Amino acid sequence: MGSMDRKKRMLLFTVILTTLVLGGLFTLQNVSPASTNAANKKQTQTPKNIIFVIGDGMGMPMIKAYRTLKQEKQSSTNRQTAWDPYLVGMQTTHPDDPRDNITDSAAAATAMATGNKTYNDAIAVNHEKKPLRSVIEAAKEARMKTAFVVSSDITDATPAAFGTHNVSRKNKEQIADHFFDEKINGEPKVDILLGGGMQYFDRKDRDLIQEFKKSGYSILQSKQDLLSKPSKKMLGLFQDDELDRAIDRPKDVPSLKDMTQVALTQLNDDNPHGFFLLLEGSTIDSAGHENDVVGAMSEMEDFEKAVQVALQFAKKDRETLVVITADHATGGFSFGADGMTSESGYKWDPAPILAAKKTPVYMAKKIASGQSVHDVLHTYIDFSLTTDEISQVEIAAQSGKASTIQLSIQHIFDQRSFTGWTTFAHTGEDVPVYAYGPGKTAFQGWIDNTKQGKNLFHLIESSSTYRP
Ligand SMILES: [Zn+2]
Repeated sequence: MGSMDRKKRMLLFTVILTTLVLGGLFTLQNVSPASTNAANKKQTQTPKNIIFVIGDGMGMPMIKAYRTLKQEKQSSTNRQTAWDPYLVGMQTTHPDDPRDNITDSAAAATAMATGNKTYNDAIAVNHEKKPLRSVIEAAKEARMKTAFVVSSDITDATPAAFGTHNVSRKNKEQIADHFFDEKINGEPKVDILLGGGMQYFDRKDRDLIQEFKKSGYSILQSKQDLLSKPSKKMLGLFQDDELDRAIDRPKDVPSLKDMTQVALTQLNDDNPHGFFLLLEGSTIDSAGHENDVVGAMSEMEDFEKAVQVALQFAKKDRETLVVITADHATGGFSFGADGMTSESGYKWDPAPILAAKKTPVYMAKKIASGQSVHDVLHTYIDFSLTTDEISQVEIAAQSGKASTIQLSIQHIFDQRSFTGWTTFAHTGEDVPVYAYGPGKTAFQGWIDNTKQGKNLFHLIESSSTYRP
């Protein structure tokens, strides 16, 4: 009997507990603040604004290295990058190419901009060399404002595939022409263009600068211009080619963050139809191609600061979707090389990279132009070099070639930081996808890179303001 009593008591207890828990849940749901419901609802709604962010050449090991370097630099245990909390999945990167199964930036950008796989080199055209409609065209037709903020030249593969069409990424002057000539509702497709590449716009055979100016664009050539005369239509070309690595960048050249801030302010001002901003940390890829870990980390930092601005905007605005991804990885960057030694332990070490005041590219140019190896290395590297290290660079300097000298300096940073590289080209692995804000659920899981474009079309065309 005693045991029956216990069972009854247990049953009664369970019934009461269940009632309390369920009641509590209902109560929580019933009294949940309107803002929480609204926030949940917004996650599945159509965004008013879209910020599509690409770290060109930003593979997972590069992110891990940057996170580690940031932690060391800030002496902090915060292991997160700005985008880490928003990981939603991975995407494939391969092209649809008769020969290749590793993508270049053109085919990858075409996949994300149009929802179609194509051949390497293709700028938003299919295998028959016919134009593929891009999400920027859909956005412009929907009367959204459009903007590109990049650290490459504006004519580089990623912005080119979102904004123009061409059989080859190499036709940079044609691509520059098409940024002006391919119009929607009588206007160039992109309202704000900020990055590098002046040489492709300011030419002897055609003065695109004047043409943009005549159709109402402010022409910006320096950070000062960007900050003092921003407007709703801007063509900002801050260097002749891609922008220098952030750590080497002259003071009058803006950071990716500067450009992002100005673009967002202009895009958001008195704008009922929303906007589409393409934001690219383009030159993470360039540093990867050169196998320059100092340059790559400096570009990751420049990129993260711009992404922080984009996320802060979205958090405040609550109607903005931010998608952050990479088009592919570059260089076969490895977080850890040459195994474990008894003196060094088992690690990738950011300290030598943080001791660099400029990139090896910058230092090599100084040496190639006649400055002494000893002076240059001592001026720009904040650790004491061994005689062996200095003599390696001196031997390279005898070639008189900046590229050879650069490799010899990079070798010092690679060895000291335990950084590995496998190629001067791209690698073909999947890359991460992060998303924040209304519409983010469409980007979850393991997706093909064409799904990005398909999602973006859907979000733009199902918007209440879409009237083609
Ligand atoms: Zn590349």
